[in-house]
Amino acid sequence: MILQDQAYRIQGLSLVEITEQFGAPLYIYDAEKIKSQYLRLTDSFAKVKKFKAHYACKALSNVNILRYIGKLGAGLDTVSIQEVQLGLKAGFKPQDIIYTPNGVSLTEISKAVELGVKINIDNLSILEQFGNAHKGVPVCVRINPHIMAGGNSKISVGHIDSKFGISIHQTPHIKRILDNTGLKLAGLHMHTGSDILDVEVFLQAAEMLFDLAKEFPSLEYIDLGSGFKVPYKEDDHSTDIEYLGEMLSARFLDFCKQNKKDLTLMFEPGKYLVSESGYFVASVNVIKQTTSMVFAGIDSGFNHLIRPMFYDSYHQIINLSNPNGRERYYSVVGYICETDTFGTNRKINEITEGDLLCFKNAGAYCFSMASNYNSRFKPAEVFVIDGQAKLIRRRETLEDLLQTTVEI
Ligand SMILES: *Cc1c(COP(=O)(O)O)cnc(C)c1O
Repeated sequence: MILQDQAYRIQGLSLVEITEQFGAPLYIYDAEKIKSQYLRLTDSFAKVKKFKAHYACKALSNVNILRYIGKLGAGLDTVSIQEVQLGLKAGFKPQDIIYTPNGVSLTEISKAVELGVKINIDNLSILEQFGNAHKGVPVCVRINPHIMAGGNSKISVGHIDSKFGISIHQTPHIKRILDNTGLKLAGLHMHTGSDILDVEVFLQAAEMLFDLAKEFPSLEYIDLGSGFKVPYKEDDHSTDIEYLGEMLSARFLDFCKQNKKDLTLMFEPGKYLVSESGYFVASVNVIKQTTSMVFAGIDSGFNHLIRPMFYDSYHQIINLSNPNGRERYYSVVGYICETDTFGTNRKINEITEGDLLCFKNAGAYCFSMASNYNSRFKPAEVFVIDGQAKLIRRRETLEDLLQTTVEI
């Protein structure tokens, strides 16, 4: 998004005009940003011939977005059978979808087997049941390398007592199950959390998987998950993807050569691909002054964007309607009948009732976590592609809210 000719724009289109056309509150996604992030990753790993990025679609799962990312050449990372079905609907080939559930039943996993996708299992009990039920089906296991990564404990999943993955210390047990059931191990996977800034964390975890990989001759791929950090604040640091690509590619190719293996290297970026592509626009209903503060109350709440309240995450807030106005301090809050603060004491160009505020980094885990709390409608979604703003999800109506209700 850039400020050009007095308006904030993406691909030359003014966000104010897009919002006037489709109404607020509105999610707007910039296809060009998704594409540049994707190419940045694949270019960084260009030396690895067998490289595949699987988009973690829980971040943003509109089927148009999935189709667009599929056409770029990515595969899909899914965590539920419904995401698998969405991915197939979006045109992904089953072999380009990896299914990485946590805590689901064998019944659901068996459905994914029927759909022909790659299966990734993250506990020993299910691995054993899977082996008995689906002996000939190649499987991937999710390893917990116990690397504490990421600054936010709410989104770290690699600690010793994490519910995710099979401990790396349980490798002998994995082997015993494979031997007992005749299962073939095709993949090794890890995903230790989100917002991992330090490239060394990935390199260290990769070494652990490489060591493990030596013990499984049937192995076809190594999947290093994701957790790449993207900038949220203006001067924020982010994962150095180019440096990661340079260091890891060299090490991966070297490992494959030394061990005479022809493996595929995979990642599963969610936030990295879509976070910065998204903008959430809401209008200001009311300005309220208290003894200590000025509140800007918007026509939205944690029903539309829950990350600030759920993860204490920071989303930059910009006044689209007054780009050159004097900067003042505001707390931006929602209309939900609970505390729902988007940002406290933020410096924003002077806000008047009716102005449009824009939240940055609204591509990942924003719409996909939206709800109908307070019986509010979810926002509409617009995809800006080839210089055109296209509606990809209409606004809800009262009929939508009542659709699944059974009146007695
Ligand atoms: C959520 C998730 C991802 C994506 O994580 P980001 O931090 O959004 O990149 C990747 N793999 C798995 C298994 C996940 O659950």
